[in-house]
Amino acid sequence: MNIIKSLISMDPLIGTVALLLLGIFFLAIYTLTKVKTIAILKKSINYLNQTIQELDHEAKLIIKSDVELKLYQEESEDKLNKLTLLKNLILSSLRILDKEQLFAQINEKIINDLGFKRGAIINLNDQEVKLNIGFQEQEMKLIQRAFLAKRNILQTTPLLSAELETYKELSSSLHLQDFLIAPVKARENVYAIFIVTGLLIPREIKRAEKEIFAIICMYLGQCLDNIDLFEELYRAKDDLEKKVKERTNELVKSLREIETISKLKSDFISSVSHELRTPLTSVKGFSSLLVEEKFGKLPPQAKDRLETIDKNVNKLVDMVNILLDISRIESGKIEVKISPSDITKLIKSVVDFLSPQIQSRQLKLALDVPGSLAVYMDKDLIERVLINLINNAIKFTPPGGMITVGCKKETRNALISISDTGCGIEKNDLEKVFQEFFRVDNPVNRQLQGSGLGLSLVKRIIDTHKEKIWVESEAGKGTTFRFTLKLSENV
Ligand code: ADP
Repeated sequence: MNIIKSLISMDPLIGTVALLLLGIFFLAIYTLTKVKTIAILKKSINYLNQTIQELDHEAKLIIKSDVELKLYQEESEDKLNKLTLLKNLILSSLRILDKEQLFAQINEKIINDLGFKRGAIINLNDQEVKLNIGFQEQEMKLIQRAFLAKRNILQTTPLLSAELETYKELSSSLHLQDFLIAPVKARENVYAIFIVTGLLIPREIKRAEKEIFAIICMYLGQCLDNIDLFEELYRAKDDLEKKVKERTNELVKSLREIETISKLKSDFISSVSHELRTPLTSVKGFSSLLVEEKFGKLPPQAKDRLETIDKNVNKLVDMVNILLDISRIESGKIEVKISPSDITKLIKSVVDFLSPQIQSRQLKLALDVPGSLAVYMDKDLIERVLINLINNAIKFTPPGGMITVGCKKETRNALISISDTGCGIEKNDLEKVFQEFFRVDNPVNRQLQGSGLGLSLVKRIIDTHKEKIWVESEAGKGTTFRFTLKLSENV
């Protein structure tokens, strides 16, 4: 500045030019720096522009995804609603076993939930309208007529939808813009048609809506099948019950007849036995006296014959007595007095009573009984059972054999057993031994006396006690008879 000042003081013109040149110089430097700055700024602007474009692109993508997400969410919600609708329909119709009630489950709410304003179900067999929501009578007739002719389409097509080219003609003949129609099949045959129309929100019908509608129609078909099956089952059960009733009545009738016949038989045996007893007693008396030669000495041949007569008369008396007892027990003429009593004591007394026979037959006897055991029994009748069974054991066991009389306490019963090591009974004859007059046809029995009535009487006595008797035996090895009696707490 001092140089310029001295130049101006020397020559003002030169000084001014110098000042101007200096100014131009500084301006040039300043302009250069600004150009540089502008270039840098331009670069930055370009970069920013690029970034903005990228951001814009990203933003567009985000908006697109957001819209898609919303759509997807709406679709999911819609599907969920439809599934809930199906679930509710299934729950409400689970226990329904009547076709009318089943169709009554479809109401306006369900039609709306399916996305439509109007709906109808028509039975194609009798043209009965099962459901009508929003259809005029005229429209209904139109649909009925259209589908009577097109029944076979429904047989093979699970869903008819308005927007499909194939059904455009149907759509115009029914005067309906949009619709879904599906068959409700029972046992594979079209039973009814289900139609929904008039979308709540005018738009294209979604795939999920079509699927759920077809599923509902299939489900209704399933329900119809179940109802049919149930009705068949119910009818079969009813028929069966009727038949069982009829047969039971027939059986009761037969039983009554058998009871009457059985009573007649018992009465007959009872009166015959009774009538026979008096003359037999007299015959027996005289034959005994004759055998004992109370009327004078008999020639040996006559005595032999009389002894045979006396033996047979004894046999006859025994038979008549047992027959009389059996018929009395059967007809309830014998009063059965069941009361608590000691079975061990009874067994011991019967064994004592029969011990002379046991000894004379050279048999061994073992007793396997508790100290005492209280049971419910008619003492006199059970005594006869024991006498009969032990007597048989004595009869059918060869000398040197063994008889065991046992009594065991079980949970609710006493189990009484009479075993022997005698001739035994063939398997085929086992179940017959309790029948009247049955005697096993074997060499042992042919030599022995017997009526074949003893076990028959035994069985009846045990039956009157409502107890069980059975026999186990092996031919040649021995036999065991067992019977039960109810335990009592006190004697
Ligand atoms: P009975 O002894 O008078 O012939 P039962 O009614 O007492 O008549 O017996 C029927 C048949 O059962 C007998 O004839 C005999 O063949 C067979 N039976 C009964 N008890 C025994 C036994 N302990 N061992 C082998 N056979 C027996």
